[in-house]
Amino acid sequence: MNPVALVTGASRGIGRGIALELARIGHDLVINYASNREAATATAVDCVAAGHEAGHSIRAEPCRADISEATDRAALLDFTRATFGRIDLLVNNAGVAPNVRADLLEAGEESFDRLMRINVKGPYFLTQAVAKWMIEETRNPKSEIRRAGAEIHVPKIVTVSSISAYTASVNRGDYCVSKAALSMLTPLFATRLAEYGIQVFEIRPGVIATDMTGPVKEKYDRLIAEGLTPMARWGQPEDIGRAVAAIAQDRLPFSTGEVINVDGGFHLRTL
Ligand code: NAP
Repeated sequence: MNPVALVTGASRGIGRGIALELARIGHDLVINYASNREAATATAVDCVAAGHEAGHSIRAEPCRADISEATDRAALLDFTRATFGRIDLLVNNAGVAPNVRADLLEAGEESFDRLMRINVKGPYFLTQAVAKWMIEETRNPKSEIRRAGAEIHVPKIVTVSSISAYTASVNRGDYCVSKAALSMLTPLFATRLAEYGIQVFEIRPGVIATDMTGPVKEKYDRLIAEGLTPMARWGQPEDIGRAVAAIAQDRLPFSTGEVINVDGGFHLRTL
């Protein structure tokens, strides 16, 4: 049996890049999305093809769920159980930027609440629910997670935060605060879940070419050309996907709670 990954916000952008890389290493997938069914279906089809190309027979199933809604989160896990009967990897990727970038002195509560609901509350409680399921499975001697063929798959949780977790952008303070809060999820759950052998990681992307950064493409083109990042290029969804795949393939067996920067060196201080 293939290991199963649930990737939130996998219809487009970084989530799609993660799903494709996981397909290439033989994971079955739940392709979560909020509203764009067409994109989610296309990603699922492309994942099956990518898996096949890499020699794996995999399944990829789209599932609509707004991760900020408790009933939708429960339905998403019910769907995963009913479809695959197990979960090996949760990737908390879904997230949103403010609809309007507003100055720190003017920005309103509505945008703040929206970002905290989707970027923080959604992944926090989805992780809580998935963690309980994973713990249940680690105690189950007949667990499929523990014996997928001859291989033992260590359950894992990966959360996609952002360089905005520590970088002040005064025209989207709400986003920065939401990503800083989200960053606390990984040390918390890594500590709590270590005794069950569940690994927890944070991936911190830099500037990645997706729909989210589409509206500011020219600004970032200029900043990258001027030396924003030691590696002078845009990140691609595949860059994040490959980092998640390394974790999924047990390349970091004695690590948990780690932050993995995938940002072309943006986080380096230089003099
Ligand atoms: P994107 O291209 O805008 O895609 C967002 C994805 O999240 C879509 O699949 C969307 O589904 C889904 N989504 C949005 N709200 C949701 C909700 N309430 N419930 C479930 N799914 C939801 O964004 P992206 O650039 O790939 O960003 C993905 C993650 O990386 C986000 O957490 C973002 O903060 C983070 N990040 C991005 C960058 C960057 O430069 N792009 C940098 C650092 C971190 P639909 O297709 O149905 O709308």
